[in-house]
Amino acid sequence: MVLKLIEKEHLVDNVWAFRFQPSEPLVWTAGQFVQVELPHDSPDAEGTKRWFTNSAAPFEGIMQITTRVTESTFKQALSKLEASDELQLIARPDGDFVWDDSGFPLVFVAGGIGITPFRSILKQRAYDKLPLNVTLIYSSRTTDVPFKDELAEWTASDNQLKVEYVVGERLNAEKLASLLPNLNGSLVYLSGPEPMVEALGDELKANGLPATQLKQDFFPNYNEDNY
Ligand SMILES: Cc1cc2nc3c(=O)[nH]c(=O)nc-3n(C[C@H](O)[C@H](O)[C@H](O)COP(=O)(O)OP(=O)(O)OC[C@H]3O[C@@H](n4cnc5c(N)ncnc54)[C@H](O)[C@@H]3O)c2cc1C
Repeated sequence: MVLKLIEKEHLVDNVWAFRFQPSEPLVWTAGQFVQVELPHDSPDAEGTKRWFTNSAAPFEGIMQITTRVTESTFKQALSKLEASDELQLIARPDGDFVWDDSGFPLVFVAGGIGITPFRSILKQRAYDKLPLNVTLIYSSRTTDVPFKDELAEWTASDNQLKVEYVVGERLNAEKLASLLPNLNGSLVYLSGPEPMVEALGDELKANGLPATQLKQDFFPNYNEDNY
């Protein structure tokens, strides 16, 4: 499938949203990811393919990549795309990092750019007028983070949605437990830089969170300095 660039928008810091029109209907569940390929001259060792969450909501029908534009040749080539330029979608939407009506209270934990699947999920539920009964912990290096305005809009319209910002401090199990008294009785979603998601997941399990109540979305090549 071909994805044709509609527009790109600078969100905050080095974070951009790239919106693409798919050449055929793209069907997915909010929170899922795809793999794309962008052939470009002299690619670096990471090559021409990347996995990305679709940060758009399914009702929007588009593919939206929200990402930090780094120095990698892939990101540089992506940032140079102009309207109507093309990207190949080489693996269709997949993954179980989606809303789960398991009966457990839901906790979403985003490390920086790891907010992307949660934005898609919350946007779709707000559109469908479904309850946003979830606590989102949004951890970041600075206050300059994407989707703050939308989150404020959704918390204003649904008082079941709670958003806690954790800025400039390392998120660990102790901090999460201080914010969430019923942590081990919750279904916890972790999304963000691979080392953070891995370490926090291990800590939560060591502190008594059953593995069946943990969902993890790992973003490789982000770490605590660049997420
Ligand atoms: C399921 C899934 C969903 C994802 N969703 C998103 C998303 O919504 N938004 C998003 O931005 N990203 C997402 N990612 C991550 C994405 O695929 C890229 O890995 C990420 O964006 C970094 O790409 P890059 O081109 O900036 O950096 P890369 O070129 O991959 O590397 C960036 C930096 O890390 C260094 N580096 C490279 N390899 C390593 C290594 N092995 N160890 C340590 N350092 C290394 C490089 O030197 C460079 O400085 C997702 C990944 C997965 C698997």
